[in-house]
Amino acid sequence: MTVLDGKAIAKKVRAEVKERAEAFASAHGRKPGLHVVLVGDDPASQVYVKMKERAAGKAGLEGKVHRLPGDTSQADLEGLVSKLNADPAIDGILVQLPLPDGLDAQPVIDAIDVGKDVDGLTPMNAGLLQEGRPGLQPCTPSGCMRLIAETGVELSGKRALVIGRSALVGKPIALMLLAANATVTIAHSRTADLEARVRESDVVIAAVGWPEIVRGEWVKQGAVVIDVGINRSDDGNLIGDVEYATAAENAAWITPVPGGVGPMTIAMLLSNTVTAAERREA
Ligand code: NAP
Repeated sequence: MTVLDGKAIAKKVRAEVKERAEAFASAHGRKPGLHVVLVGDDPASQVYVKMKERAAGKAGLEGKVHRLPGDTSQADLEGLVSKLNADPAIDGILVQLPLPDGLDAQPVIDAIDVGKDVDGLTPMNAGLLQEGRPGLQPCTPSGCMRLIAETGVELSGKRALVIGRSALVGKPIALMLLAANATVTIAHSRTADLEARVRESDVVIAAVGWPEIVRGEWVKQGAVVIDVGINRSDDGNLIGDVEYATAAENAAWITPVPGGVGPMTIAMLLSNTVTAAERREA
């Protein structure tokens, strides 16, 4: 078994991003610009936004955060998105979710210019992914695909199971695996026999948010296991959706929690921003 070290692979992605960002800056006389919109004072969101701002700066991007009060109106928030859409020096726009009560996230996301939608959450980018056309793809699923790519395992013809069907994680990962010619099954809360689905799968992606829902003994010998879940155990530690120690005995490759998928998400956001910048200037 080999541990898929998300920290090390994310570092590699960030180094690649930095090189591309520097090449972009020397060609166009400006850094790729990532603007993050944060509404209200949710403590977790503040931490995430700070991490994104810092990571952007370190990777040679221009990172800026727009902090708005919690009582910002829907019209003002959508107005800011329009302003950022129109600014030629901005390549990526990210609206940090969740928004405070009283604000409707969907029209705000829908308002983001498709070419600047570095979270890949607009219906247009979701549609491009579904059609297998180039667009901007959601960061956590892209991070999972990069982790699989690092294993060198060929996905074509493999049985892949995605547990979870959210628009943010499960559905886009399933489409990406399909595009890589895996035979894809999507499990969800109504799936009848999860154990049987896991036992037959060469690749398992768990994105549920249920501590250790995937029992280690279910994992097929030689499988690739990607654990997206982030849960708090009774003793306060972070644990995934997969029972790690026993799963690791069967898997060929497995991501730990923490230190697996988590670090990849911001790295892929930076990568998407440079991609958006390159396409806008092409
Ligand atoms: P979500 O929107 O709550 O979706 C969870 C999915 O799990 C749903 O599709 C749900 O099915 C399914 N599910 C619930 N109970 C199940 C069961 N007993 N068996 C099989 N499937 C079941 O969550 P999410 O946003 O996709 O996130 C999933 C997990 O990933 C969370 O732990 C989250 O914290 C984590 N996450 C991590 C990162 C990262 O960077 N590492 C990023 C995003 C999310 P139904 O559709 O039928 O309800």
